[in-house]
Amino acid sequence: MEKIRITERLFYIKASKNPLSADVGIFEGDEFMWIFDIGADESVPMSLNKIQKPKNAVISHFHPDHMGNLEHAELNNTYLGANTFKYAKRGTVVESDIFFDDGERIRIFPLPSSHAKGSIGMEIGDYAFLGDATYSTMKQGRVCYNASVLKEEITVLKKLSAKFFLISHDEKFIRQKEEIIGELEEIYNKRDPKESFIWI
Ligand SMILES: [Zn+2]
Repeated sequence: MEKIRITERLFYIKASKNPLSADVGIFEGDEFMWIFDIGADESVPMSLNKIQKPKNAVISHFHPDHMGNLEHAELNNTYLGANTFKYAKRGTVVESDIFFDDGERIRIFPLPSSHAKGSIGMEIGDYAFLGDATYSTMKQGRVCYNASVLKEEITVLKKLSAKFFLISHDEKFIRQKEEIIGELEEIYNKRDPKESFIWI
């Protein structure tokens, strides 16, 4: 399992399509390893379990490609949104921003998302892991965003101090904050004020 370095303490394991498995973020804190999304490829927990350091996982949302490995990983604690908790049946529910100091300041925050209810993100320094939260959803077989949720999401994202957003399944993975917010604002501007959903 290849770990790709982002900074001295921050790494990720690239997403795969077969099996469908999300990007896995890894931060080496002073006390804990922080894992953002545990993926679904079984080689991920196999390699993480070999690391002696205690591990905490942050699960972006309930989809299997992001949390499928949860029961195979040896974890101290798991942080997730209320809707994800319904599926995972374990861990600490994140209802408002939580901060940790583990070598760097870590912020875990609720993230309004059309893609998945109960999404959360994790910000460490210049980097914010967003999972799939910026993606659309499907309704009646059509791709769409919920207009009011998208507006809330843009507001939360703008307040983040990170310069880079880490977008799961994206070919580049590490994207400029401004570029992502620009894309979401462009979608929001296409809304019909009489409609709850933005069809794209
Ligand atoms: Zn995904």
